Amino acid sequence: MTHTCRERLDNRTLAILSYAALGAGAVLALCFIAFPDARTTLAAISMLLLIAAALLARCAFDIGPKLVVALLSIGTIYLVGEVMAALVDDTSRLAVAASFDMVANALLIVLIAMLVRRRSGHLSVGDIFDGIIIALGGWMISWMIFIQPFLGSSKHSDLGLVLNAMYLPMNMPLLALGTLLLFGSARPGFSTRMAVVGVFLNVIGDIVYALEETQDFGAWAFTVADFMYLWVYAVSAAALIHPSARQLFEPTTGTRRLRLPGRVIATVVALVIPVSLLTAIPVASPTDRIVRGVSALALLLLVGARLFQSTRAALHSQDRLAEMALTDDVTGLPNKIALIEQTDALINDVWRTDAQPSFFLFDLDRFKNINDSLGHQAGDEVIRVVAERLRLAASTIGASVARTSGDEFLVLDPHTTSPGEALSRAELLHSVFSEPLTINDGVLFISASVGVASMPVHRPMPAEELFRWADIAMYRAKDAGRNCLALYDQSMQDRVSLRMRVETELHGALDRREFRLFHQPIVEVRSGRVLGFEALIRWFKDDGTMVSPAEFIPVAEETGLIAPIGSWALLEALSQLRTWTIDGIVSKGTTVSVNVSPRQLEDPNFPSIVEEALQRSGVDPHLLWLEVTESMMIDNPDLAKVTLQRVRDMGVRIALDDFGTGYSSLSLLQQFPIQRIKIDRAFVNGLTDSEHSQSLIRTIIGLGESMRLDIVAEGVETVEQLKALRALGCGSAQGFLISHPVPAEAMRSTIAALESLAAWPEFASTIGGPLSLRRNNDQN
Ligand code: C2E
Ligand code: MG
Ligand code: MG
Repeated sequence: MTHTCRERLDNRTLAILSYAALGAGAVLALCFIAFPDARTTLAAISMLLLIAAALLARCAFDIGPKLVVALLSIGTIYLVGEVMAALVDDTSRLAVAASFDMVANALLIVLIAMLVRRRSGHLSVGDIFDGIIIALGGWMISWMIFIQPFLGSSKHSDLGLVLNAMYLPMNMPLLALGTLLLFGSARPGFSTRMAVVGVFLNVIGDIVYALEETQDFGAWAFTVADFMYLWVYAVSAAALIHPSARQLFEPTTGTRRLRLPGRVIATVVALVIPVSLLTAIPVASPTDRIVRGVSALALLLLVGARLFQSTRAALHSQDRLAEMALTDDVTGLPNKIALIEQTDALINDVWRTDAQPSFFLFDLDRFKNINDSLGHQAGDEVIRVVAERLRLAASTIGASVARTSGDEFLVLDPHTTSPGEALSRAELLHSVFSEPLTINDGVLFISASVGVASMPVHRPMPAEELFRWADIAMYRAKDAGRNCLALYDQSMQDRVSLRMRVETELHGALDRREFRLFHQPIVEVRSGRVLGFEALIRWFKDDGTMVSPAEFIPVAEETGLIAPIGSWALLEALSQLRTWTIDGIVSKGTTVSVNVSPRQLEDPNFPSIVEEALQRSGVDPHLLWLEVTESMMIDNPDLAKVTLQRVRDMGVRIALDDFGTGYSSLSLLQQFPIQRIKIDRAFVNGLTDSEHSQSLIRTIIGLGESMRLDIVAEGVETVEQLKALRALGCGSAQGFLISHPVPAEAMRSTIAALESLAAWPEFASTIGGPLSLRRNNDQN
């Protein structure tokens, strides 16, 4: 039934009804002015209006029966009081009317308190305290103005006087609640505003009424009060049925706008006025003294209690805030700030002992994969399980655990006495990762990389610094292949500093034209003929120092700077080749080899970069060799295959650099479009005295023959090595014996020297002597 009723009462209808109630109120008020004698009838009609509105609201909105019963009771009590007061004699009239009103008022307070509580979710102890303090202040004013002076008068009974005077104190909480209602919502709607207007009109009416009863203002005061009351019913009815009344009955989502100052002012006023009156109006009788004394004492006690309560609440929330700031909410573990604080406190004492407190920084390996594949909820679950395991394990050795960030946990072990001991205790904790983790999505294994750092003996240092050490060590553990531990030492710090310095200087080095290419010839072992050369980058800093690529290429890779540097090197090498060919410094078929780092190959634009460089330089693609290492093919084989194939399709050839040092997987040679293997210089080095190197090189050369691959031996430094390579049938070679990498300007003389040597008739039988070969090439 309610359902159909609710369907019929759409927002438009409700709004019209609400405005109609206001209109009815206006008509009733006008009637009252015209026929003051019809007062009781008009009051009864407006009361019925309110009751009807309450029933309508019950049907239209989701309001509980308690609220409706309260509304109906209030209306009924006022109505009955009105009728009863008209029936009794003059002296008791005030007592009868006031006592009914009092009950109705009390109910109204409860009702509005309920509304406020429903809307803001709670009515705090502070709210209630403030209400009572304001009411008590009102009572004291009433006592001194309305009651005490008229006690014993013949016009009204004393009870009537007291009850009459209660209007003021009882209205105080109503005012307070009305204000809370108005400011309790971010945007008070029509209903809220009407409800508050109703409360205020009621208060004004009550006060005028009370004043008239005792101070004899004249009949006009009654008229004003009654006029107010008629409007109270009308606006309350309008408030109840307006569509925005939903806002009144629903919890608010907005923040409360009534902040502390408003309240403090209200409470202070409620204290200042009665206290001023207390001093201004002399004590009239012993009863007066007692009432004033008791009331003032009660007020004082209440204010004291309120102060105590609010201070305690403030301290409590401060504590909560402080606690929240120090704990991680996913795991409940302390956070980094908390553990650092704890460590700093410990450090203040520990330097007197032999203990070397340590940090173990655990970082979960590839945690991002878990988040990406299983979702963040599963990620959080993993974090919680790991946290609990670490906490348990740490507690057995007297250490504390904190969650420092996403997938990072920091353990403070205050008891370690040496870095070695720290490492073994960290290893113990690391074993919590050996068991699989059971979470909702199933069972999974997770590992962690651990950085261990111990404080130096007798040398206190800030906990933050120790944390930085642990962090550096942790990255070292990651670099070393993850799922392992690394102990911090000074060299790590030096490496980090160096790296940072290089990184800073590297930015802008290209713009400042600080890079240069050096070129190392690659010769045919059989004839000594120069087949091509490898371009090797050098960085000349503005202070004149030269940085080797081994130092800055890894940094450039990490920072992504390798892309522009690599592109520059490619174009520069090709342009150089073109110039030399035109100038006749090198023969027509001479090739150039350019090193390419994995990061460059990952760039989908790489093939177009190569194509553009070839076009701009006008070099035949067949003359370009790109030297790549195995790592990219292992880490990201699919991407590597596509990129290399696209480059290969242009006619560019691909060499596998440093062969023998990495995985040296034969399957790579099959899967990827590779035309050349460069035997790493480590094997060439061992060629003359290591059986192993010899057989390895023999195997590689055999493999090259069967797969029709070109073989280049790197790092040839002695004639014996060259002879051995020749004996094994190695096609070509490069190395300091033949020539160091030389700057472009030295290429002409280098090539000339090499060629005159190759033309020497006895080259084939002796392959020359080391001195004669290196004669012109020591330019590096
Ligand atoms: P790589 O490609 O294996 O280059 C050979 C390295 O061995 C060069 O070192 C070269 O100077 C050195 N070398 C040549 N002959 C001998 C010898 O007989 N004995 C010894 N001990 N060493 C010899 P370099 O120039 O310091 O380059 C180191 C690495 O830096 C290169 O190894 C290459 O991986 C990388 N690199 C150099 N230039 C570039 C570049 O333009 N881009 C990229 N991505 N990497 C480059
Ligand atoms: Mg190379
Ligand atoms: Mg190499």
